[in-house]
Amino acid sequence: MEDCIFCKIANHVIESNYVYEDDLVAAFRDMNPQAPTHVLVVPKKHYANIVDDVPAETLAAMAHAVDEVAKAEGVRDSGFRVIANTGDDAGQTVHHLHWHVLGGTSLGEGLV
Ligand code: AMP
Repeated sequence: MEDCIFCKIANHVIESNYVYEDDLVAAFRDMNPQAPTHVLVVPKKHYANIVDDVPAETLAAMAHAVDEVAKAEGVRDSGFRVIANTGDDAGQTVHHLHWHVLGGTSLGEGLV
């Protein structure tokens, strides 16, 4: 999608701080980190959110990317949280599917 910031970052039209990448997805650091590890996993193709008929292959690639990010960031054993804000009530601000991968500290028990 032409005006989508995450389309541009995932496809290197705009460069970012990448942690992992493959043919279907890119993972890069959130510009406003909420934890020592705060990485966004996004598909290279545009989907508005998790309920936008996302192909199973893309979801599998995103899950694989989460694992790669967790390994690269050293949080795979200590634990981490994956969040997909979806729609207005969740406060989704970028309307390109993305999973937040948060970790590197105790995240507490609030909101799951
Ligand atoms: P959400 O509320 O789930 O839509 O969160 C969008 C996230 O994208 C926020 O945590 C922002 O800090 C992050 N973000 C927005 N623009 C950029 C960007 N250009 N590079 C990195 N992170 C971004």
